[in-house]
Amino acid sequence: MLDIRELGSILESVGVRRDAYSLDGSLGDERLVLLRDGHHWVTFYSERGLRTDPRSFANEHEACEYFGRVLLADRTSRALPLGTPCALCGSPTRELWAIKRPRFLDVVKTGNWCKLARCCDCEALWCEVAYEPYGALAYLARWHFSEAEWAALHGRDDGKTVGDWNGAMVRAYWSTLPADELSEVAAHRKRSYGRNPVDEPNAFDLGELEKSLGRPG
Ligand SMILES: [Zn+2]
Repeated sequence: MLDIRELGSILESVGVRRDAYSLDGSLGDERLVLLRDGHHWVTFYSERGLRTDPRSFANEHEACEYFGRVLLADRTSRALPLGTPCALCGSPTRELWAIKRPRFLDVVKTGNWCKLARCCDCEALWCEVAYEPYGALAYLARWHFSEAEWAALHGRDDGKTVGDWNGAMVRAYWSTLPADELSEVAAHRKRSYGRNPVDEPNAFDLGELEKSLGRPG
């Protein structure tokens, strides 16, 4: 669940200008405001004492999701230098997320126990595969190809190759994960008795896939 505190640190890390929004109840001029109003959460654009485009949400998470998306969509309000890794998904430095997902991903394709999602800030594509138990644990590998190539690969065998590719990416990159995700992976390995993408290897060749898709990653 996303809350105001985490939203504030995300907006700061992606470089949204501090005067483009307010999360502390102050109004100011020409800024997007998020505040609690009784049992609801409301957002509006504050302009010369007026509340433009007011919206109301039943909970903090939905209000924060909406608020973050509006600000992230407006790239003119950013102040970060080009070339720094995406503060939301870590692309292009990061190749893998384990069990935890980056914030603000939009699902663009849904397949068999897998999906393709796009980072709403940098537009990097992430291929998510659900693993046991109960398909509840997600590993997301950065998809270096296009949406159409993902759909074509999924169509070859109803997602089997997509799953094999994801497993190969997990084995190639899991040791580079941050400490909190490494401990989640360790816990997953311990309780899954070998049925997890780290310990259940397949002979998948990442280089072969790149060739078969027609261009290098
Ligand atoms: Zn990103």
